[in-house]
Amino acid sequence: MEKIIAMCGIVCSDCGAYIATQKDDDAKRAEVAKNWSEMFESDIKPDDINCDGCTTVGGRHFKYCSMCEIRACGEKMGIVNCAYCEEYICERLEGFFKMAPEAKVVLDGIRANP
Ligand code: SF4
Ligand code: SF4
Repeated sequence: MEKIIAMCGIVCSDCGAYIATQKDDDAKRAEVAKNWSEMFESDIKPDDINCDGCTTVGGRHFKYCSMCEIRACGEKMGIVNCAYCEEYICERLEGFFKMAPEAKVVLDGIRANP
């Protein structure tokens, strides 16, 4: 399967919500909801676990990702992902990379081999 990369560098095609949605797998939805409820200290229900990936056009987005400022910013810029932005690494991304350094590795890799 081709990798689907989020605007911020997260690999959506490896994300539990994406996998559960594409397989329409309710057991996986329940597992992801439980894990993410603990991780985000939030009440996430299995029904919330529906996502077609960050850069989908007209598809479903997990609620937190639908509100993501990085995604909104990249969409406004009309770019494939932040690796293609002239402002890379902007302040917003810098903050995000502290929480998700693996996303920086992905975007740096794209910039090295666009
Ligand atoms: S946009 Fe969807 S698939 Fe990508 S990281 Fe967020 S929840 Fe997962
Ligand atoms: S300004 Fe930052 S968040 Fe916005 S598209 Fe560029 S790198 Fe991404």
